[in-house]
Amino acid sequence: MLKLKMSKIAAIFLFFIIIIPLHTAFAAVDKIKVVATITPLADFAKQVGGDKIEVILLLPPGASPHTYEPTPKIIRAISEAKIFLKIGTGLEFWADRIIKTASAKISIVDSSAGVDLIKDTRHSHHSGHNNHGNADPHIWLDPLICMEIIKKIETALSKADPLNALYYRKNAAAYCDKLRKLDKEIADKTKLFRNREYVTFHSAWNYFSRRYGLKVAAVIEEGPGKEPSPRHIKKIMEELKRFNTRVIFAEPQFSPKIAETIAREAGAQVLFLDPIGGQKDKETYIEMMQYNLAIMAKALK
Ligand SMILES: [Zn+2]
Repeated sequence: MLKLKMSKIAAIFLFFIIIIPLHTAFAAVDKIKVVATITPLADFAKQVGGDKIEVILLLPPGASPHTYEPTPKIIRAISEAKIFLKIGTGLEFWADRIIKTASAKISIVDSSAGVDLIKDTRHSHHSGHNNHGNADPHIWLDPLICMEIIKKIETALSKADPLNALYYRKNAAAYCDKLRKLDKEIADKTKLFRNREYVTFHSAWNYFSRRYGLKVAAVIEEGPGKEPSPRHIKKIMEELKRFNTRVIFAEPQFSPKIAETIAREAGAQVLFLDPIGGQKDKETYIEMMQYNLAIMAKALK
């Protein structure tokens, strides 16, 4: 009887001296919360941070960052995060206000800082409600620029979690190797394109085109949510005729209606390029780029 009581007491005692401290020790190594605005950035964070971090993606797959409105849930997620990953150049004009009111401890990674940016001369697309967005934000469609972003993510994670710095460095290096391979694959295939100019839905492909010697001849949407004028449509038709392509690239984040109308008039076909990804078969950045490359090859070779 007494023996049983003793072991019970021992069990309770053990619980307090071992189980509880163990539990709090695990709680102390909570994963680092990283907020990423768009799918490619969320993927980059996962590639570098692996199982040491928790990535919160702000933009649901299929949404466009140019017209996005954050929900209260998202605002809360940002305020709890340690690292905030953004593209910059004013793309996330809708997040800047939230960050300002969020904790001062949040470290912001601006992917476009130090990048050789392309001026957004066509229109004030993306600049939205602030004034510093004069650059084209679609830097992630150039895989070599992504290597710069990976370096920034590695630096931010190592600062937030110095004990795992080596782990982050190894992951970043391994992923940069994959990006280098992807770049080579795109360079090799685009070199063979007979058509080097194309028409897209919105002006997302300038960095991609600069890297691989291609050219966006015209975009259908002159600004976020803006319907093309009859004059603009006429210009697109003329461009299509000039470089003799029978393809217009639409995007899954936008309604293909206008592209389809123009395509019908021009006797062209509508194919979909995806600058954001995150959906079926295009879950990762590399899968998304391979998908885009295959679509372009189909249309331009
Ligand atoms: Zn865009």
